[in-house]
Amino acid sequence: MELLIECPVCRLYQVWSGAKRFTGGFHIPINNKQTHIIDCYEGGKGKFHCSIQCISNQKFELLFESGFRAYQDKYYREAISSFTTSIERFYEYCIRVLLQGNDGKKTERIWKEISRQSERQLGAFIILYFDKIKSKPKLLEQKMVELRNKVVHKGYYPTKDETLNFCKSTIEIINQNISEIKKIYNDELIEFNKSYVENLRIQAIEELKNHNYYNEGVVVEEEYQYKKVFRPFVKNIPTFLNKVYDKEVNIEDIESYIIDKSNFF
Ligand SMILES: [Zn+2]
Repeated sequence: MELLIECPVCRLYQVWSGAKRFTGGFHIPINNKQTHIIDCYEGGKGKFHCSIQCISNQKFELLFESGFRAYQDKYYREAISSFTTSIERFYEYCIRVLLQGNDGKKTERIWKEISRQSERQLGAFIILYFDKIKSKPKLLEQKMVELRNKVVHKGYYPTKDETLNFCKSTIEIINQNISEIKKIYNDELIEFNKSYVENLRIQAIEELKNHNYYNEGVVVEEEYQYKKVFRPFVKNIPTFLNKVYDKEVNIEDIESYIIDKSNFF
């Protein structure tokens, strides 16, 4: 799956100055790091600049989108396969949110014990969810489990309707469970998302420093698809834009464009 990523520097310049956008964006294949370096030659006066963009979505969201795009492109087997993985990674996400507050290193060691087997993860999810939420989580119904197994293990080609129903089940599982978790563990959920993004940023800064064309590039975080967030590293951006565009940029102008995300969905 490719993401259409706009150059954040050109984009901020456009927002700040009202000038015409310089670039239509770059099609970048999504990688496993969720950090993407953009080398852009479209700046004012043809100046080169580089930046790195962190895609702050959780894996299960990106996998869901992979599935949905496959559905739209009529690759129904591939769609169900991506939805299945999206659900599995969603269970992992919930487990990690519900384990917030435990020692991080110990949690990783425990996770390692179940990381290679999805059935173990499902079991851990059901029990942990029951312990914390005091009810049974919404799970994939038996007929959907059978459909998934036929698709994944027996080479079955699902119909369009079967795929759409599987897609709906995936959405229900994600929405219902997350809304129950949020009722009791909203703070933990927000805390988890924050530290997830913070780790991405740390990783992005390192990657940018090692980039061949590094020249005080900037790190930008964006939430793909939902477009609720565009939260650059505010302190660095004005100086950087000034260098690229030879104009003075006010921090207030940029801050006004930043929409804070107080919740996940
Ligand atoms: Zn640019």
